[in-house]
Amino acid sequence: MADMIERTTMRVATAEKDLLSRFDPLIAEREALLATGVRDPFAIVMDQVKSPTLAVIKGKDTILLGTYNYMGMTFDPDVIKAGKDALDNFGSGTTGSRVLNGTYQGHKEVEDALKEFYGTRSAMVFSTGYQANLGMISTLAGKGDYIILDADSHASIYDGCALGNAEIVRFRHNSVEDLDKRLGRLPAEAQKLVVLEGVYSMLGDIAPLPEMVAAVRKHPNCMILVDEAHGMGFFGAHGRGVYEELGVEDEIDFVVGTFSKSVGTVGGFCVSNHPKFEVMRLVCRPYVFTASLPPSVVATAAASIRKLMHASAKRAHLWENSKRLHKGLIDLGFTLGTKEPQSAIIAVILTDQTQAVAMWQALLELGLYVNMARPPATPAGTYLLRCSLCAEHSSEQVGQILAMFEQAGRITGAIPA
Ligand code: PMP
Repeated sequence: MADMIERTTMRVATAEKDLLSRFDPLIAEREALLATGVRDPFAIVMDQVKSPTLAVIKGKDTILLGTYNYMGMTFDPDVIKAGKDALDNFGSGTTGSRVLNGTYQGHKEVEDALKEFYGTRSAMVFSTGYQANLGMISTLAGKGDYIILDADSHASIYDGCALGNAEIVRFRHNSVEDLDKRLGRLPAEAQKLVVLEGVYSMLGDIAPLPEMVAAVRKHPNCMILVDEAHGMGFFGAHGRGVYEELGVEDEIDFVVGTFSKSVGTVGGFCVSNHPKFEVMRLVCRPYVFTASLPPSVVATAAASIRKLMHASAKRAHLWENSKRLHKGLIDLGFTLGTKEPQSAIIAVILTDQTQAVAMWQALLELGLYVNMARPPATPAGTYLLRCSLCAEHSSEQVGQILAMFEQAGRITGAIPA
C-alpha cells in the first residue's frame, strides 16, 4: 500500500497543475494556520461520548456546546432500546431505495410519528436533511419557475437551487421589504417557491415569519417552504418550529426538517398538507436514487419524535439555559449574533480568524467544545464561535461554561483582562 501511495504522490508531483490546484490557496491558508501550533478546528475526534453534553477529547472530559443536540435525545433509554430492537429484528441496513426494497415497517412508523407530531396529512422521510432540501427544492421548482430565498440560507437550500432549473432570486437576510420588492418584480403568471428558515443557524436569529407570509401573500402563484431544522422540538406548543410559535401554520405549504438535531439521530423529512404531495415519492431524485435509512435509525427517530411530543419541561429548561448563557456572555463583554436570545444557538462574534481560533483552542484546552465557523459558511465574512445549548446541560454546567468563556476571553484578549 505504501508503494502505491508513493507512486501516486510522485505522479501528481510531476504535473504542474491538476483539478485540485484550485484549492491551493485554501491548503496554504490552513497549513499556515496549523504552523502556528493551533489544533485543527475541523478535525476534532470525540474519543468517547459519555452523554449528550459530555465527551472525551484527547483524554480530557469536555463539555459539548456545539452539537445541535438541542433536546439531548441521543442517550434516551427508550430511543436506544428502539434502535437495538430494530437492529436485532430488521438487520443493519436496507441496501435499497425507498421505492424499491428500502421501505420497511420502521420507515412507515417514523412517517406516521411525523404526521402526528406535525398534524399533517403527509410526511416523507429522506436519508438526510440536506437531501430533503435538495430534493424538495429541485423537484418543486422547474424550468420557468422562480425560487426566492433568503441570502443567508443554508448550503442545502442553495444546492437544491443549483440542482434544479428554476430562476433564483435572493433577498436580504430577514428583510420583509426586500422580499416584497423582489417578488413584485417577477411575472405574475410565473409559479414561485419562497424558501425560508425558522432559525438561521449561524447567528441563531429567527425569521419574522408572519410579516414574511403577509408579504408573500400579496403576490400571486407563491408557495412557501420553511426549513425548521433548528426550530423542531423547541419552538411552538407542539415543538413543531418557529412557524408554529408565530402562528402561521396554515400558510406554510412545506416544512422541511432533520433528525440530526433535536431528534438526535440522522435523516431528513418534509411534511405537507398538499393533497398531491405523495407524488413527490415518484419524482424526487434525491429520494428515489439513494438508499433508505437503516432500520435502527428510523426506529430511534420514531421513538424520539414520540417523546418530543411530551417534552415541555425539557423545552422550558433549554430556554432557561439559552437565556442564562446569552446574558452571561453579554455581561462578560462578548459580542453576540443577536441582542436578545432568540433560539438555542448563541453566536460569539470575534474580530478575525486569529482571534477566533485562539479563543476556540483556549476553550477546548479548558474543557469546552464549541463550533468554529468562518466564511463562506458565515454571513458578512464574520468569524464566530457558535454555541448550541442542550436541554440536558445542567445549571452547574452552564455556570462552568461561563467561567471557561471568561478565562479564555482574558487569556486571548477577546475581552479586557
Ligand atoms: N437545513 C439547515 C438549516 C441546517 O442547518 C442543516 C444542517 N446543519 C440541514 C438543513 C441539513 O441537515 P442534515 O444534517 O440532516 O443533513
